[in-house]
Amino acid sequence: MRPDVLNPLFADISSLPGVGPRVKKAFERLAGGRVIDLCWHLPSGVVDRRYRPKLEEAEPGRVATLKLKVMAHQRPASPRAPWKVLCTDGQQDMDLTFFRANGRWLEKQLPLGEWRLVSGRLEIFNGRFQMSHPEHMVPPDEAESLPQTEALYPLTAGLGQKVVQKAVGAALERAPALPEWQDQHLLKSRRWPSWHQALLEVHQPQKEADLAPSAAARQRLAYDELLANQLALSLIRLNQKRAAGRPLRGDGRLVEAALAALPFPLTPSQQSALAEIQADMASSDRMLRLLQGDVGSGKTVVALLAMLTAVEAGQQAALMAPTEILARQHFKTILPLAQAAGVEIELLTGRDKGRGRRAALERLGDGSAALVVGTHALFQNDVVFRDLGMAVIDEQHRFGVHQRLQLAQKGKGVDVLVMTATPIPRTLVLTAYGDMEVSRLTEKPAGRQPVDTRTLPLERLGEVVIALGRALERGSKIYWVCPLVEESEAMDLADAEARFAALNQHFPGRVALVHGRMKGPEKDAAMQAFAEGPADILVATTVIEVGVDVPAATVMVIEQAERFGLAQLHQLRGRIGRGSGRSTCLLLYQTPLGKTAHERLKILRESEDGFRIAEEDLRLRGAGELLGTAQSGLPKFRLADIEAQGDLLAMARDHANVIIERNPELAGAEGSALRILLYLYERDTAVRYLRSG
Ligand code: ADP
Ligand code: MG
Repeated sequence: MRPDVLNPLFADISSLPGVGPRVKKAFERLAGGRVIDLCWHLPSGVVDRRYRPKLEEAEPGRVATLKLKVMAHQRPASPRAPWKVLCTDGQQDMDLTFFRANGRWLEKQLPLGEWRLVSGRLEIFNGRFQMSHPEHMVPPDEAESLPQTEALYPLTAGLGQKVVQKAVGAALERAPALPEWQDQHLLKSRRWPSWHQALLEVHQPQKEADLAPSAAARQRLAYDELLANQLALSLIRLNQKRAAGRPLRGDGRLVEAALAALPFPLTPSQQSALAEIQADMASSDRMLRLLQGDVGSGKTVVALLAMLTAVEAGQQAALMAPTEILARQHFKTILPLAQAAGVEIELLTGRDKGRGRRAALERLGDGSAALVVGTHALFQNDVVFRDLGMAVIDEQHRFGVHQRLQLAQKGKGVDVLVMTATPIPRTLVLTAYGDMEVSRLTEKPAGRQPVDTRTLPLERLGEVVIALGRALERGSKIYWVCPLVEESEAMDLADAEARFAALNQHFPGRVALVHGRMKGPEKDAAMQAFAEGPADILVATTVIEVGVDVPAATVMVIEQAERFGLAQLHQLRGRIGRGSGRSTCLLLYQTPLGKTAHERLKILRESEDGFRIAEEDLRLRGAGELLGTAQSGLPKFRLADIEAQGDLLAMARDHANVIIERNPELAGAEGSALRILLYLYERDTAVRYLRSG
């Protein structure tokens, strides 16, 4: 249960003054619909109204506050012309201008002959000073109502600056003072204010520097958020380690047999990753290791060999994939090797039902099947193992931390290996997984051909189709990836279907279509038609992103490539260049292409190194956008800026470890303050793992 003290922050913003249904909708788009979302909506600019020059020495272009006397109102000569108010500061004249003005209202705000304090941006027009739509106009005796400095917020359609300022102000009034969860020494040495004070300060910037990620108040809030993230991950990890692991030591018999059946030797990094994994398995601590390797680096083989090690030790092992297609493909890869080692293996997906499924469950239950490959279906309650010792999760960022645990809970002290093809930079590994051991596959298996990557404007589609015809004559197979329109799955589908129809007209009977809305058997049929004939072109939405393996595919066309994340494009491209033939990847972009988009595509043209691509993507786009949106599975930070505040992340990790070591149940006053922190940043699922939670 969320501590009561936080309730006002999690209240709906419609409870704030001035927030009606229309404004609320706009805020939901901009920041979120709860009071706390407005608190986290930080200013992106600041206006300083303390500049109060006389006109004769004023600098045009600056925001200035002036004391002016109203001399005359001049109605617009045409509807497009502004309403002008002629003023003087006693020595020099200037104009206030208002387009589409409400004259009656203006005459009331600026009565003839009276003085007003007016604040806004001062400009020169036709040799005269002028201010267009001043933000403030108050009588001199209300001078104190005019702010000295003002925070400027990011806006969205339908929300003006004033409305946002007011609503955020009202939200801040609801923010309670909270018990301190940070270490006093840390606060002192960094000169960080309390949470409440920091929150108020970030919304009252006095100068540009106060907006920087290095400003004390911003650092404090960012550090809180990172600590909540790291603490949550530490709690989950602690829980996982609490059930003591079992030392799994194989005798090498099955691994040898599988290796003998492999048509290739392991690469050096496959060997060392396997050794690291086996050392973890042999220890009595539970394994929690990430196997990171670029597409095509050969993770599946490593995973299988580790799984066979568990079987040698008398236990079972499961491999879970994020999609049906992938699960089937893993199964296909693994089956002959498992058979060579004389080990029974089952496939279990949502589509396996009835007698076949019951038989598979029986074999897992009595242990006659030592290995299983599957999808989410592995979580189901009726899936019971005789003795599950190891779980491999081919993550692709589609599973959350909790799902990982769910599979591990089907055994005792299960060793967990997470595989990911997304080359996440180290800092991001920390945010997504916490302190997890990492093995990396750094080189590609021998015999891979580099992919020739080119970028072309969409207008040259006609040429592309002609080139495809030539490629088909040479016996190539072709992937055609349709744009990803995140807002609308229906539009995705329409695009993909239209492209399919158009290509099928050019190359009748040789095109297959696969998309996310298809049912499993349909998808498989399309994939099979592509892998084994008769289809030579596969039109797809990004469902082929994950590890599909068709060695004869040597051409990939990606439409509107600028819409994809770099890491995603890199993964897609990894589908080709797998066989011995020379491969080409064509990135079609919609013109005009922005500068950053241009640079991003250029990186892809120049490099096939997934880690370099990920680092560059992070540099160009920021962590928030690195891997696309929902599917990235990476935590989103409201306040912390991973690039600019990366040092805080390492600090938060160490800090979280210290806390967990000293106070693993989050007991006492410190503990209850830390629980508030977890709830505040909505990492509260971790609280469930506390014994007394
Ligand atoms: P990943 O899952 O890392 O993308 P896979 O495990 O699917 O990569 O391997 C990609 C392809 O490379 C598969 O066809 C696999 O059989 C092959 N492969 C794996 N390891 C090696 C190796 N050491 N040498 C040659 N080919 C390999
Ligand atoms: Mg794979």
